[in-house]
Amino acid sequence: MICYVPAEHAQAEPRAALTPATAQALVKLGFTVQAAPGLGRASHYADADYEKAGVVFNADHAAALAAADLVLRVRKPPVEDIARMKRGALHLSFLDPFNESALLAAFAAAGVSAVSLEMIPRTTLAQKMDALSSQASLAGYAAVIEAAQRLRMALPMMMTPAGTIMPARVFIIGAGVAGLQAIATAKRLGARVEAFDTRPVVEEQVKSLGAKFVKIDLGETGQTAGGYAKALTPEQIAKQQAGMAKICAQSDIVITTAKVFGRPAPRVVTKAMLDGMKPGSVVVDLAVESGGNVESSRPGEDVITANGVTIIGHPCIEGTVAYHATQVLAANFAAWLTHFWDEKQKALRLDPPDEILKGCLLTHGGAIVHPQFAPKS
Ligand code: NAD
Repeated sequence: MICYVPAEHAQAEPRAALTPATAQALVKLGFTVQAAPGLGRASHYADADYEKAGVVFNADHAAALAAADLVLRVRKPPVEDIARMKRGALHLSFLDPFNESALLAAFAAAGVSAVSLEMIPRTTLAQKMDALSSQASLAGYAAVIEAAQRLRMALPMMMTPAGTIMPARVFIIGAGVAGLQAIATAKRLGARVEAFDTRPVVEEQVKSLGAKFVKIDLGETGQTAGGYAKALTPEQIAKQQAGMAKICAQSDIVITTAKVFGRPAPRVVTKAMLDGMKPGSVVVDLAVESGGNVESSRPGEDVITANGVTIIGHPCIEGTVAYHATQVLAANFAAWLTHFWDEKQKALRLDPPDEILKGCLLTHGGAIVHPQFAPKS
């Protein structure tokens, strides 16, 4: 089977879907691995190391796509690439399926089986393939580092002969995978950390990291069977905003990670809350690409408010640590492929009763097969 890893189409994407280590694992399984030259340049993996691992570079993108049985990518492909692929080939990447119906239709029309990394079930068995978690964890870390660099303050408490420097106050909104890593990072840097999440089960996890859990009574919130937050009512959102305004006003750094799977991100920080914040404070909106948690945030831009609050809207903040983001993402791909590899046939076996496959296979055999995305008849 030929596995091809093209260069990322999105210009600002520094991550890659393959490292020399995972290339070696795929070659060992039995894949012929081809890649675009310079694949790992932006994430600091050298061509020579890929070659040592058995990768053959192919600069002819169209020919490589047409020959591949399997294509691995970080981001969704340009639609014209899909029609160039072989019927029956498999494509693995993030796909943003809730917003990309035309792309899914193109995969189905081309007879390409598309797997969406976002839809891999968050189960124990699939943990090694969980690309949302591997990337969110680094995003949480990077958000704190980025904010600390912009803040004209030190984070830890320092007792000096010239006086005591008080620890910076960090408020994390949303304590899922990214939020918990942000809490841990801010604590390691010595900040005083508070956090809030609508899922009450998170309180213990927040406390175990040494942060304070902010209590806001929103009534019934709960979570889905998959562990995701449920969307709040407009009244609950208003209560949440009122409850958080004072904490934002006291905080030096606010990091928002609040997401509701498959829906636009909730607006949890309003302009009025930003107006109440201290000059020089920094807000990082990790939900900026899915609609934004913060009223004035813009993808790819820093916004500075009239009262001097910097709002960072980095659309892929884990890209600032692209070496490690690539390391773990490529490992997620390799774990998925190993799970579905049939050693006897020396080929991938897409077994529809498999729970992981049921969750993440969106198109197959010329149709959209995932019930959440199949056209309603
Ligand atoms: P996510 O990115 O969808 O959301 C991030 C956080 O935002 C969540 O904790 C959510 O509760 C919170 N949130 C939503 N609306 C909010 C609001 N209005 N205000 C404040 N917070 C809000 O979630 P995620 O980080 O990808 O993880 C979701 C859950 O999936 C995890 O908490 C975990 O239970 C589960 N999970 C399981 C596994 C596994 O078992 N292998 C792996 C990863 C995650």
